[in-house]
Amino acid sequence: MTIESALRATRQRLAQAEHAAGRPPDTVQLLAVSKTFPASAIREAAAAGQHCFGENYVQELHGKAAELADLALEWHFIGPLQSNKTRLVAECAHWVHSIDRLKIAERLAAQRPAHLPALNVCLQVNVSGEASKSGVTPAELPALAQAVAALPGLRLRGLMCIPEATDDLPRLREQFACLPTLQAALAADGLMLDTLSMGMSADLELAVACGSTLVRVGTAIFGGRSASATPATA
Ligand SMILES: *Cc1c(COP(=O)(O)O)cnc(C)c1O
Repeated sequence: MTIESALRATRQRLAQAEHAAGRPPDTVQLLAVSKTFPASAIREAAAAGQHCFGENYVQELHGKAAELADLALEWHFIGPLQSNKTRLVAECAHWVHSIDRLKIAERLAAQRPAHLPALNVCLQVNVSGEASKSGVTPAELPALAQAVAALPGLRLRGLMCIPEATDDLPRLREQFACLPTLQAALAADGLMLDTLSMGMSADLELAVACGSTLVRVGTAIFGGRSASATPATA
């Protein structure tokens, strides 16, 4: 299967999921997760009409953004972010989905170049309660959200989650359902967020049914990655 046909099939899945969920067409954005794949694969996807790409590793994001600068793509950083790596992300990303500590947000805010528009950010929430998972706890979310929303250079757009790796659908559904609930609680406190980043290749239909506005899809578009290069649960 070519990247073009995989992309077409993924867009069809997404359209069907929107329809099945009773949601208007084109309300869920498709982020193509290109981690571990070469710039040439991204070029192919871009030629097939894909504009937004997600990367997990800072050096990879930086290299590909530079190599593909002629395409004016939108870059989303979705991986774990250490404080000593924030500068490159502040300089080349349009979005960061994986913020779970104020310190990281403060560094991104301070390092965002003044000539660029505000960096769009999502807060990653640990919806499964697994100790190994990144993400702020639901209880800690309101304070972090208010603090991040007040930072210059950043625009708080939404919430992101990576649920437990399980085939237990009710359990998955319950974890996805956390994000709209938390979004509503923040809205009641006057903080309006427009993005829920949830759903991947295996579970995008369920995520869309649960209110996702952006799905992050890698494998279904670009094919499988070697196991060592897949820290999807980090
Ligand atoms: C790798 C990754 C994805 C894409 O996962 P697929 O199962 O390949 O679609 C989505 N989100 C995050 C945070 C990832 O690390």
